[in-house]
Amino acid sequence: MAAGPVFADEPRRALIVSPFDDSIIPFNQLESGIRREMQSELSSRVEIYAEFLDLGQFPSAEYAARVASFLHDKYAGRHMDVVIAISPEALDFLLQRRDYLFADSQFMFAWVPQDQLTAFRVPSNVSGIVTRFNPAPTVDLALHLQPDATTMIMLSGTTDTDRHDLALEPERLKAFAHRLKILYWSNFVMADLLRAVGKLPRGTFLVDRGIIRDGAGQRLVGWQVDEKVTAAASVPVYSPFELLIGHGNVGGNVEDFETEGRQTGRLAVRLLNEHVVGLRIVAATSTIVDWRQLQRWGLSEANLPPGTIVRFRQPSLWDEHKWVVTGAAAALALQAFLIAALIVQARRRRRAQAALELQRRELAHLGRVSLLGELSGAIAHEISNPLTAILSNAQAGKRFLRREPSDTVQVDEIFDDIAADSKRAGNVIKRLRELYKKADAHLEPVDLNGIVADVLELADRRLFEDNVSVATKLATNLPAVRADPVQLKQVLLNLVVNACDAMADNKLSDRGLTIATSCDDKRFAQVTVSDRGSGIATGVAERLFQPFVTTKSTGIGLGLSISRSIIDAHGGRLSASNNSDRGATFSVALPIDEHSPHAVASRDPTDVPNEAPT
Ligand code: ADP
Repeated sequence: MAAGPVFADEPRRALIVSPFDDSIIPFNQLESGIRREMQSELSSRVEIYAEFLDLGQFPSAEYAARVASFLHDKYAGRHMDVVIAISPEALDFLLQRRDYLFADSQFMFAWVPQDQLTAFRVPSNVSGIVTRFNPAPTVDLALHLQPDATTMIMLSGTTDTDRHDLALEPERLKAFAHRLKILYWSNFVMADLLRAVGKLPRGTFLVDRGIIRDGAGQRLVGWQVDEKVTAAASVPVYSPFELLIGHGNVGGNVEDFETEGRQTGRLAVRLLNEHVVGLRIVAATSTIVDWRQLQRWGLSEANLPPGTIVRFRQPSLWDEHKWVVTGAAAALALQAFLIAALIVQARRRRRAQAALELQRRELAHLGRVSLLGELSGAIAHEISNPLTAILSNAQAGKRFLRREPSDTVQVDEIFDDIAADSKRAGNVIKRLRELYKKADAHLEPVDLNGIVADVLELADRRLFEDNVSVATKLATNLPAVRADPVQLKQVLLNLVVNACDAMADNKLSDRGLTIATSCDDKRFAQVTVSDRGSGIATGVAERLFQPFVTTKSTGIGLGLSISRSIIDAHGGRLSASNNSDRGATFSVALPIDEHSPHAVASRDPTDVPNEAPT
């Protein structure tokens, strides 16, 4: 082929010739390495061309001749500065037609094994990258990871290349002969091989040289075989071929085609720039392992030879989501802090509530004591009355017994009176004890009308002494409220006593108190205490329920504040207002007991004014 004219500013041209089609991945990697390296070195000053000879699918000499003729015509007007043959096959094709094709071009090769250089009689002045297939560094890797291994089995296929290569292996592996029993399995039928590799004892490892034809002559795909073998194997499998890594084997010392491509590209640039003849460079290899397989077999990364490349490392949660993890940790810490703060706050609140409750109970007790203090005169009278009656009845009884004949009928009546009086005194004492007792609130269904009756009984003497007449307006069919009866009595008693106080300046004939019960809505029943007294003093109304608010010279101003806290604790309402004419009305509303709205029947469904007892 005649060389075209070369102009100084013309780009340099390189042609990469591959032996087969474009499906051979390692050769594609090699080609891309060459392109990358040449382009980075020469940038736009290089044009790169590529040819795929397809000699594998079309092995005839006639086809080869036609391809050569085609290339001759194709490149007639375009001078190639360097022609790079990938593989011994491509190199052989080009060297055989050197005068016909690319006569004035520089020749070089990549991926030609050392022994093939001789077999193809490559002239020594042709430069290139020589591959030296050597399984030894892969075996070395296996022994780093499995230092106790005693047996190695090399798996290979039945192609001519396999047989040829296998014959060279004992020489390549002789350094290990003293510490390993080395077996060569090359004639297995696939199914038998898979069975056999599943039963291997510990201390063994396999080296997969890539099987593309098995013992039965069946054509196979190397990486698919590796996947099956590694899945079935009971021991780790290694491979000296880069193409097989990632399919289940642990890894090996392999030729990295991309790196070899770069080596080739660098050599091509040297050929273009310098006068280089017969430069042979050994292809670079790297030790590469599959991180997932190290995990599978429990092989320690610490045992890897220095410089080993670890592929397929699965990033830890930390590696993959560093920011998310940091953020989540910060959020968790913040949350923990907030929870802790809330717990502390809740504890403080509970403590404060408990203290408040204690205070409330103390106050309630104090209120009762002071209330009873106020009532003491009346109470003493209440008790001394029946006691006096008992005494006089007892004396009368004695007298009747002394008579001859004794009046047993009278004596019998006297005893009945004594019993009734002592019961009355006993009742008063019982109610007093109830009110003095420091008991926790105990909510139960309570009949408001019954409470009113009890309170009036307790206040009876006071009402009598103050000449206060009482009218009750008690609702019939009043639903039970949920209340602590003792506390409720305390509240009502306080309201009654306050009403009496408020009417102290009224004329004796003008002292009237009305106690009414009602139920106007479904949720609350109420009891009201109305008087015809002075009314709530201006300036006091807003602070009426605050502690220590009093207009009385002897008052302590606790009754209403205690009463409100008691009613609040019941979920009810205590309110006060002045009547339109005169006096004030205090109203206690309490929640109806849901479970027994009518459980407790009204004890005194009357609407009859109850005149002060005489
Ligand atoms: P105290 O009875 O010791 O004063 P309270 O808390 O029971 O304490 O009452 C506070 C104040 O509310 C009373 O001093 C009085 O001024 C006013 N008050 C209470 N009940 C009535 C009422 N029925 N009529 C007018 N004022 C009242």
